[in-house]
Amino acid sequence: MILNDKIWKGLTGGGVRLPHALLFAGPPGVGKRELAEALAARLLCEAPRGAYETACGECPSCLMMANGQHPDYRVLQPEADSEVEGGEGVADGDKKKASRQIRIQQIRELEDFFHVGGHRGGARVCLIDPAEAMNPIVANSLLKILEEPSSSFYFIMISHRWRNLLPTLLSRSRRVMFGHPPVEESQRWLAEQKLDHTARWLPFFGHAPLALADAARSGRLKALETLVADLQRPGDPLALAVRWEGLVKADAALEMEELVVVVQKWLFDLGLSRVGAPPRYFDRQTLEPVAKKAALPALLRAQQQVGQLRAWANHPLNPKLFLEDLCVRALKPLNS
Ligand SMILES: [Zn+2]
Repeated sequence: MILNDKIWKGLTGGGVRLPHALLFAGPPGVGKRELAEALAARLLCEAPRGAYETACGECPSCLMMANGQHPDYRVLQPEADSEVEGGEGVADGDKKKASRQIRIQQIRELEDFFHVGGHRGGARVCLIDPAEAMNPIVANSLLKILEEPSSSFYFIMISHRWRNLLPTLLSRSRRVMFGHPPVEESQRWLAEQKLDHTARWLPFFGHAPLALADAARSGRLKALETLVADLQRPGDPLALAVRWEGLVKADAALEMEELVVVVQKWLFDLGLSRVGAPPRYFDRQTLEPVAKKAALPALLRAQQQVGQLRAWANHPLNPKLFLEDLCVRALKPLNS
């Protein structure tokens, strides 16, 4: 299945021709890139099926797409992102130097791609992810290409922060807004990825199913589950600090700040539960046994103190002391 079904149907419903520059805008982790890739495959497919359908998956073009070797398809993204996907095989030591920006050189290569005819006589597609990785100079050279009319060329830009883009870039592309997919759709998608057991974490991940799937596959979700299990059965804060130090140091590590944010969200939801409001990040069942025991004034104090600690989370002078401090403050209202 394709996430964001409604948007997909709007784009592939036929009738109106697709514009040559599309901008997929919306929060990260909701499936913009996946939909862009599916649309690119459909535009390049040599045996296109009817309205709403995905690419055939079997023609020579689809096979080349599946192998990541289609000559009429380009992906422009910062070098640093290509390496995450294992694209360029740069040695570990060089990763830090990899650019987080799309470089002007990448646009020049695109000009060549644009001016040389397509290899397979059909459409050509360029995906740009994310569009905000282009500085104004780079974006302006892209605009020059966008201004040259070409009937067979499609640009699909992805942006998590579209308001930061150049107005000229916005005005020359059709914006497609992505929100969070409906819960039921996300649940079905997670089930298809064999991740149905993770669905209760959707609210925690802001209903961004791709972000959740990413955490599940990298092992970070397991660390989060351990953390929440600890929060449900708070015991001795100092013993807990030792265990959490292990979570921060582990392979699929949580960043210290991430850990603090989980505690913050936990306390926030406990507060909501305490006043009878629906929780925002965790499910009621997970929270309720703890919420009953916590006194509201103590909870609010703990929220405030953990909020102050968050400012130090990225550079704690002494991680062990920092975690002890956090555990003592966060768990005090739960033990009272
Ligand atoms: Zn095909």
